[in-house]
Parts: sequence; C-alpha cells; structure tokens
Amino acid sequence: MTDSKRFFITSAIGIFLLIAPNLFLSETVLAADTVVIYSARKEHLIKPVLDRYTEETGVKVKLLTDKAPSLLVRLKAEKKNTRADLLITVDAGNLWQAAKQGVLSPVDSEILKQNVPEHLRDPLGNWVGLSIRARTIVYNTNQVKASELSTYEALGDPVWKKRLCLRTSKKVYNQSLVAMMMHTIGADQTKAVVKSWVANLATTVFSSDTEVLEAIAAGQCDVGIVNTYYYGRLIKKKGKLPIALYWPNQGGRGVHVNISGAGVTRHSKNKAAAIRLLEWFSSPAAQNLFADINLEYPVNPKVKSAPEVAAWGTFKQDQTNLAKAGELQKEAIKLMDQVGYR
Ligand code: FE
Repeated sequence: MTDSKRFFITSAIGIFLLIAPNLFLSETVLAADTVVIYSARKEHLIKPVLDRYTEETGVKVKLLTDKAPSLLVRLKAEKKNTRADLLITVDAGNLWQAAKQGVLSPVDSEILKQNVPEHLRDPLGNWVGLSIRARTIVYNTNQVKASELSTYEALGDPVWKKRLCLRTSKKVYNQSLVAMMMHTIGADQTKAVVKSWVANLATTVFSSDTEVLEAIAAGQCDVGIVNTYYYGRLIKKKGKLPIALYWPNQGGRGVHVNISGAGVTRHSKNKAAAIRLLEWFSSPAAQNLFADINLEYPVNPKVKSAPEVAAWGTFKQDQTNLAKAGELQKEAIKLMDQVGYR
C-alpha cells in the first residue's frame, strides 16, 4: 500500500468515526423533537395549529391523515413498531373504540384535568376532548317558530309528520346521540323516540349533515338534527338562508355535545412530548386555533368561542360523560336498526 493510499484510508476512517456519533445523535435528537400524529381530523383543520406549535417550541409534528377505522386497524397492525405518538379522531365513540382495542395509553395530567371539563375526557385517562361539537335542532324559519320546538324527543310528535329530515344512522354522530339518550332516558323510551322520528321522516335519510341543512333550507322538510359547524359553514358559503339553530332540552339534560379529541398511543416512543402537545392543545393559547377553524366550541371553559359561533347563542350542554357514547354504541346501532332507522 502506498503512503498516499494509507493516508486516504486512515483519514476516511477518522472522518467516519468523527461523524458517526453525530449521525446517531442527530437521529436521536430528531426523534425526541418530533411528534407523530395519526389523525382522522381533516388536515386543513389541524395543520395551522401544528405549525404554530412548531413555531413556538421548535418541536416538529408529522401528520398522517386517514379515516378513524383505518387508523385504528393500522395502529393495531403496527403494534410496537408504530411511529405514532398521538391519535386524533372526531367523535368520542371512535376514541372509546380505540381505547377498548388497546391502542391508547392512559395519561394522568393535572393540566388536562384543569383545562378540560370532566365529561369531555375518559374517566380512565385514555383520551381527552380538544374541541366541542354541538349536535342540535335546525329548522326552516319560514315554516316553524322556535316556540314550537322543545326537545329531541318531541321531534317524534305527530305534528312533525313528513316534516323531519335526518342523516343516516350509519354515521357515528347519530350513534353517539342515540347512545347518550339511551343512557339518560333508558333503552325502551329511546326506542320509542327513534321509532317516532322514523315515522315523521319527510324523505329517505341523507348521507351528510350539509344535505340535511340544504333540504331544510329548500323547504323539503322543516326540522332536522345537525352539528352546528355544518350550519356555520353553509351560511358562510351561501349567505342568508331560511334556517336557524335551536337549543333543545334546556329544561332537562341539555344539548347533546360531542368532541374531537386525542389520546397518546400505547406504543409511543415519545410519550412525554406527546403529552406536552396534548396539554398545549388544551391551553388558552391553542384552543381558539383548534376550535375556531372549524366553527366548533373550545373545550376549555376559560376560552371564548369565535364571535360568529357565539352569535348562535348560549346553551346548556349535556354533562354526561362521553364515555357512555362508546359504551352504548353497539346497542344504539342495534336499536336504530330494529326501528328501521337506516
Ligand atoms: Fe363532521
């Protein structure tokens, strides 16, 4: 071997030894500074919040967006090899399912307990609400006076015959609504209510809340049940429409609410960072960013809703723990099927 060759090889080994630990280190540092989220919340609704977090903390956030059931299957298949630290979904029913199937791990955080009311988080700590969505009554203002409305149950009264529009029972939002009703008024009474709704339908069920709103605005039906942010979106897009929101059950259990929320994954390699991000989501600094972008309500009671959302008025919300929406989901689906709610 010539001297120059030997010099080249020694230098190459030297440089490698010098760089290798840094290569390794930089990977470790990157891992600790990156939180990976599997999210069923639409990307444009969450990206601005995550960008703000990275700006404020330097922590990078990677996002994989898909439907909740697909993410659940994926988490279960990946087991220990998953890169996910957080799972974000809409509807407590989905979060409850994720916890039941063992892909989440309980978090005990004083900050989350302070920022998020008890009924909007899992009693076992597996998931926590990050924004509130109210599922309420909407009506055609040309055909109906607010004084004619009272409760979800009363939409089954004969006066609403061929005047009610509903979204399909396949949607988890309606499964949660019915599950929570079963918890409060019992299965038998709920069955009678849902049956009476079906008897009052003006037309076959719709596949989206927006279609329900449009049918009511067009006079195809007079009343329906929707999540309020769909109402907000439609008004924003179309301007003035002859529809308005109504807050039912104000003398009783209150308006049915649900959440978009999150849980730390069972096999997260980065739990501390995942919890810090969850806590930040619940803080006043992030709550408006998280909720307002989709015209939802903040979970943190110290934070005000966006002005356009606040304009819809205040209401008493159902304080029943949303874990019930998951616990009774199967029975709710069965009940709806039995009375012919498709
Ligand atoms: Fe939705």
